[in-house]
Amino acid sequence: MSDLRELYQEVIFDHNRSPRNFGKLDDANRTAEGYNPVCGDQVKLYVRVEDGVIKDVSFDGQGCAISTASASIMTEALKGKTEQEAETYFKSFQALVTGEGEADDSLEEMFKLEVLGGVREFPMRVKCATLPWHTINAALENKSDSVTTEK
Ligand code: ZN
Repeated sequence: MSDLRELYQEVIFDHNRSPRNFGKLDDANRTAEGYNPVCGDQVKLYVRVEDGVIKDVSFDGQGCAISTASASIMTEALKGKTEQEAETYFKSFQALVTGEGEADDSLEEMFKLEVLGGVREFPMRVKCATLPWHTINAALENKSDSVTTEK
């Protein structure tokens, strides 16, 4: 178990140090910004959707290691997925990190997201991990308001 935890920490560390899909996406047709005032995480999501498929996705902003790693892992998992699949991933990820509801283990990229399951033990960090997901959700729904974890 401690080996697994170490591996998870390594993955998060790696994604935080060299985030994937980081930077503005010039041909994005959906964008949204998210803010988690509890931690100070700010994230902006850029998505290019064509025919209901997430053709490309990137993010930028400033946040803690958990929010940055979560955004990085999320963009990797969702690239090439349909909007509907993204929704399923969002729900499964939320179930994973909050411990409420069922995560769909049959999702092919779910294993990538599981490294963040450990935040469940740290309620303050759950918002860091879910912020990028709430933000991409808003982008996909074309909401222009910025997202905040505090309602
Ligand atoms: Zn944070």
